[in-house]
Amino acid sequence: MPPKNHTCQLLEGLRVKVPFGKRELIGLIINISSESEFAIDDLKRIIEVIDEAPVIDNSMMKLFKWAASYYHYPLGQVIHNVLPTRVRQGKTLTTKNSAHISQEPAKELTPQLQLSDEQEQVKASILEKSDGFHCFLLEGVTGSGKTEIYMQLIAEKIKMGLQVIMLVPEISLTPQTIQHIQGRFAEKIVAIHSGLTDKQRFIAWTDARLGDADIIIGTRSAIFTPLVRPGLIIIDEEHDSSYKQQEGFRYSARDLAIYRAQLFDIPIILGSATPSLESLHNALSQRYSLLSLEQRAAKANKPSYSCIDLKGKPLSEGFSEQLLSHIKDHLQKNKQVLIFLNRRGYAPLLQCHDCGWTASCPRCDTSYTLHRNTPELRCHRCESQRKIIQNCPSCQSNSLMPIGLGTERTEEKLEESFPDVPVFRIDRDTTRNRGKLEDTISEINKGQAAILVGTQMLAKGHHFPEVTLVAVLDADAGLFSSDFRGQEFMGQLLTQVAGRSGRGKTAGEVIIQTHNSTHPTLRTLINDGYKKFSRSLLEQRNMANLPPYSYQALIRAEASKASLPMSFLQDVKNSSKETLTNTSFMLGPLPAPMEKRAGRFRFQLLLQSTSRAEMHALLNHLVPFYEALPQSRKVRWSIDIDPLDFS
Ligand code: ADP
Ligand code: ZN
Ligand code: ZN
Repeated sequence: MPPKNHTCQLLEGLRVKVPFGKRELIGLIINISSESEFAIDDLKRIIEVIDEAPVIDNSMMKLFKWAASYYHYPLGQVIHNVLPTRVRQGKTLTTKNSAHISQEPAKELTPQLQLSDEQEQVKASILEKSDGFHCFLLEGVTGSGKTEIYMQLIAEKIKMGLQVIMLVPEISLTPQTIQHIQGRFAEKIVAIHSGLTDKQRFIAWTDARLGDADIIIGTRSAIFTPLVRPGLIIIDEEHDSSYKQQEGFRYSARDLAIYRAQLFDIPIILGSATPSLESLHNALSQRYSLLSLEQRAAKANKPSYSCIDLKGKPLSEGFSEQLLSHIKDHLQKNKQVLIFLNRRGYAPLLQCHDCGWTASCPRCDTSYTLHRNTPELRCHRCESQRKIIQNCPSCQSNSLMPIGLGTERTEEKLEESFPDVPVFRIDRDTTRNRGKLEDTISEINKGQAAILVGTQMLAKGHHFPEVTLVAVLDADAGLFSSDFRGQEFMGQLLTQVAGRSGRGKTAGEVIIQTHNSTHPTLRTLINDGYKKFSRSLLEQRNMANLPPYSYQALIRAEASKASLPMSFLQDVKNSSKETLTNTSFMLGPLPAPMEKRAGRFRFQLLLQSTSRAEMHALLNHLVPFYEALPQSRKVRWSIDIDPLDFS
């Protein structure tokens, strides 16, 4: 219905004020129809049209609708999730006073680098096919100069007056990437990530939407930033699991980006040294163009690998004698050493030496991690915490002992063993404060001898030119994962961590401590590298008919009583039986590997199909049915399409 006192044309994507019960709310027009299933008197008038032109254009609206149907998530919720708060509140879009990342007017820009032949070829191949939609997978070893290629392609697009979106996996990587890009371009750059205030987010979004910003850098959610002159999308570290949202609207920013590029008819580049098997499969089956960089840029050599087999060796806080002496060598040469341990805190377990009691979170049935820097016992599942206890509640003994290693303990050990060298710990605990990681990184990059110890945060995209030794303290954990993606993730993580070594002038070394030095997966990775490793994993997936050779949806349910989610999922399964064809099957319901979290019991049912279309058809048919089940009100349930995390 046209609004009162207003003679403008209604269009999809306009924001409107509408009556809702006794309140007035802001809505977005998602469809225009001249008919309604409701009687005319039951329809309500729009109170006011807010915008002169749609804030969400046609293609973006199509993207939202596609996302809603693909992820089986309500369109209203999708839109609520992806629009900045102030846009939802109806604030006027304007580029005045925009406090974007300021640009000095006449600053000196860093010149482009002279590309190597390999880089030149990649750039040319991309430019050749970059008039319309095309998806490129750039598989380039760590330090091969992918970033330089991105920069030069961005420059080409900007010259044509187009806008570019570049996604990076971690908020901690955005400042570095922005700095880098700022040094290269005089054009306006905006950053969109979870660290922004509502106001900052609104301004950045508006600048992109109105065409004031030329380069948009951001994490996952930035893929929903509207543009007026879209020219190119770049997904850096495309394998990174942070591109998948793990709560609520469980979208993959990488997969949506590809669909978005298709809608806008523009090229998209997925870049990684360790591509996901999904992307690799698409590239090897010619759906994407596969481009590769085999050499490190800037004359740096690939690092050399070796294993230290820990079987029967004495260890001091997780370090073998051999490793300590290698660390010493590198430090004496005034180089930096990176120690990787993917577990934060001091120790993953606090145990009574007299009776065996262990401190565990009552809401999760999992052991508390002991933290010493901020002294407390913390549950890494629900993040609840309690004071450190001095006496065992079971036998009153005071011999409570920290068992196992976390980064805090490793840091302590290294400070003891190498008192003259600064030790920098980098994990989620040390980088909570904004700007802290940047400070640490610039301190490290002053180049003095130093030790870096940290979790996977250290593995992602950083460039520390003085690091010549990377040591993996314990590679065993990743070798025996129950998750079918466990080996893929381990291979990516190890390769990425190793890739921090020897990126400068001096050749790098990688040392892996393990009790399983002959494990075939580890051997393939070390001897043949990720490229062969990933192809052989793909063959295994093919034989086992697992993704990317089949498609999955994970139906999760949880409640404070274990029987409820179980019986809900059982009903879901029973009701699906007749609809399942021979291309699809259901597995479960089973307790989730992390069965209890924050006081709730969690169960899951896996739907797998060799036909994506059929899986979606099935869910389209079944979801309304699930919603109607009486138990569906008593449990919290969700559907996760293309699930990555089965915990
Ligand atoms: P990647 O993103 O592939 O890991 P980077 O883009 O970070 O690699 O490049 C690694 C290093 O090589 C950086 O210091 C970069 O400045 C340098 N580099 C990249 N391309 C060239 C080039 N053509 N000539 C000289 N140095 C280069
Ligand atoms: Zn005890
Ligand atoms: Zn807990």
